[in-house]
Amino acid sequence: MLTSTDYLVVGAGATGLAFADTLVAEADVDVTVIDCRPAPGGHWVDAYPFVRLHTPSAFYGVNSLPLGEDRIDETGENAGYYERATGAAVLDYFAAAVGRLTGTGRARVLTHHEHLGSGSDGEQVRDLSTGELQDVAVRRKVVDARYLEASIPATHVIPFEVAAGARLVRVNDLPAAAQSSSSYAVLGSGKTAADACSWLLENDVQPDRIRWVRPRDAWFYDRRHFQPLEQVGAIMEGLSLDAEAGAQAADVGDLFTQLEASGRLARIDSAWPATMFRGTMLSAAELAALRQIGDVVRLGRVRRIEADRIVLERGETATSPDVLHVDCTALGLNNAPATLIFQPGRIVLQQVRALSPCFNAALLGFIEAHRDDDEEKNRLCPPNAYPSRIEDWPGMMSRAWRAEGRWLTEPDVSAWVAKSRLNLLRALPEHAGEPSVQMAVARYLTHVNEAIQRLRQMDGSSSSKAGEDGAVRSGAGR
Ligand SMILES: Cc1cc2nc3c(=O)[nH]c(=O)nc-3n(C[C@H](O)[C@H](O)[C@H](O)COP(=O)(O)OP(=O)(O)OC[C@H]3O[C@@H](n4cnc5c(N)ncnc54)[C@H](O)[C@@H]3O)c2cc1C
Repeated sequence: MLTSTDYLVVGAGATGLAFADTLVAEADVDVTVIDCRPAPGGHWVDAYPFVRLHTPSAFYGVNSLPLGEDRIDETGENAGYYERATGAAVLDYFAAAVGRLTGTGRARVLTHHEHLGSGSDGEQVRDLSTGELQDVAVRRKVVDARYLEASIPATHVIPFEVAAGARLVRVNDLPAAAQSSSSYAVLGSGKTAADACSWLLENDVQPDRIRWVRPRDAWFYDRRHFQPLEQVGAIMEGLSLDAEAGAQAADVGDLFTQLEASGRLARIDSAWPATMFRGTMLSAAELAALRQIGDVVRLGRVRRIEADRIVLERGETATSPDVLHVDCTALGLNNAPATLIFQPGRIVLQQVRALSPCFNAALLGFIEAHRDDDEEKNRLCPPNAYPSRIEDWPGMMSRAWRAEGRWLTEPDVSAWVAKSRLNLLRALPEHAGEPSVQMAVARYLTHVNEAIQRLRQMDGSSSSKAGEDGAVRSGAGR
């Protein structure tokens, strides 16, 4: 029975495990990770069957254990790019990561255990298998690795009504149900909806049999700019395009016009305004396939599906009992506002560098191990809320660049960052002599300081108020 621990990490998803992995590697401490789910891996435990990482495996997971073999895919939409693990492979990987962690003798991972909150005798944890309630004395900190818990199709509450006679499946059930229909309506704007459409197209459904109900249109990165190791120059090129656009843009609209013109970002329909930015990515081949779908419904969010019509925020459209509606409307990334990461007795894992959740969690483990003062830890790791709208891009990038600048002045932090497998730029020094890399670095350095200033002026997000500018909102909730 668990009675005490130095660190109680709530959440055995990618971030909780990446944090614990680095903390245990860097400090002689006792760590307990708990999760309600029956297995480690967080949302991946309940992910849809055809999910894959959208980033390469090379920089995903925990720092101490490689994921995959850094192979270049030879076929399919990812041809020429680094491999991306399937959901099943991610789960196997996290099981192995837990094995390594517990093998240190200084960590344990308790699945089927729920954190209920703080009580007078310690942190209250319920064993969901037995119902037993335990009070755990936490000697150092409770680590909230669920503040940014992902909302996914399998477990979210479907946010609209479904009348008798209408056919709706969660995206997890699409492969099993697809055969029973010849027409499909995919509901949702984000990466999961894009994945569902891609899956249908790959399974020989004709594009004119697919309707895509998109409340918002989204921007996607070109996956080309997220290729590490031998192709790391492309990541540097992408960052240099960000910096150049950031330095030159007059406003947010102009910024996205420039990012699209440079090939950094793309939208599925270039004739339609896109207002959503979630930091996800597509390959050029995926984008071309998705552009074949011409039947797009843009009437806002779905309110109700009936046997013969879909009622939406701004109107309705016909449907039929033969159409299989596919729910992909879960939020995905969490929109919780930024709050201080290092608080008295508590660490709230969040984004620092843009769109690198595993890297960030591991970095926070390193900082916790090697700095004593919470103010200094927060200076090095200002929180950076996940983006949802195009207006979130300026603040997210300027905050990330300012934080990265601070790491460079701390020799131990920059040394750890340079060698971390979770750092997508780690191979940059080995390729520094290549002309294309030199050009990208020069363009980045020319523009980044001006970009930081300009983007700060465009930023009106929660993160700008949390942490680094002195306007501390300690303990801010969801
Ligand atoms: C479909 C999908 C694909 C993605 N692909 C990528 C990718 O390719 N690359 C990338 O970098 N990022 C990707 N992301 C971003 C993603 O958010 C992270 O990769 C990461 O997996 C999220 O991990 P997490 O630990 O923050 O959250 P989660 O995985 O949601 O884990 C949080 C955990 O906390 C547990 N929990 C909650 N409350 C309690 C409680 N009271 N007691 C105990 N346990 C509790 C939950 O059960 C859950 O398991 C993807 C996200 C989604 C949804």
